[in-house]
Amino acid sequence: MRIGIDLGGTSVKAALCSESGAILRKQAVPTKIGDADGLRGDMKQLALDLCAAQGVSPDEVSSIGIGVPGSLDKKGCRLIFGTNLGMNDVEFARAFQPEFGCAVQLDNDANCAALGEATAGAASHVQNMIMITLGTGVGGGIVINGKLYTGCNDIAGELGHMVIRQGGEACNCGRRGCLEAYASASHFVKFAERALAEGRESMLASDRGHLNAKMICDAVDAGDPLATELFEEYCRNLSCGLANFINIFQPDCVVLGGGLAGYGEKLLEPLRRLTIPEIFRCETKNTEIVTATLGNDAGLIGAAML
Ligand SMILES: [Zn+2]
Repeated sequence: MRIGIDLGGTSVKAALCSESGAILRKQAVPTKIGDADGLRGDMKQLALDLCAAQGVSPDEVSSIGIGVPGSLDKKGCRLIFGTNLGMNDVEFARAFQPEFGCAVQLDNDANCAALGEATAGAASHVQNMIMITLGTGVGGGIVINGKLYTGCNDIAGELGHMVIRQGGEACNCGRRGCLEAYASASHFVKFAERALAEGRESMLASDRGHLNAKMICDAVDAGDPLATELFEEYCRNLSCGLANFINIFQPDCVVLGGGLAGYGEKLLEPLRRLTIPEIFRCETKNTEIVTATLGNDAGLIGAAML
């Protein structure tokens, strides 16, 4: 029996999972922003409540994993910077004692989502995969031989910060030209707002100032020329990143998650068409490019499997 916890800016979700990563029961409470002791108390209470509801003793839990939004010290089981949670330097290893004696593991939320999809989602049939989350930012996770690759400082997998255009768009990380600065939902919106500010005509003009990625995708569906142009450029930039990742890792599978992945085949078709000619390959096997299947449960399952 394992417990996975997904620590988000609005809610703390927890799940009791089988050893193979199947969710048996889950529960959530609102996040106590800025209150580390309150947060640790809620996490332990969620774990205890899940065990009680399932008729499981805390002794039967073999592992507790936590997915956190921010930078972390994996060995010290410590969140270092948790801007979205309003807290820094929080230690989690002892949060579940004395009831739970098992090890507590920590990783970032994008890595947990990748491990979740690799265990029980879109890439459960393969051993080598990468996941790219297309949300406010661009998150990433690398799974090699069924295990997360975390690097010498345990923070590997920042796929969104591969530069695809030297000197290009400013990225939130301080560099320029990162994949995130072209393929995140927030930058997709920024490019649309910029085009409208330059006077381009579009059905999006009436929503200028409060656009979101879904509105632009809907405008693509409605045949709007500006939205279509922006979406084609978005796909060209994202496929540049995907081709780079595939050429480095040759994963069996690339899984796309996050809000923009909800566009489904309409996103996958151009990405496959643009990416495949850019990759080194023999004709025996191509990397599959698919969308995530677990939604918000990916992070919970991945945390449980850390
Ligand atoms: Zn960056």
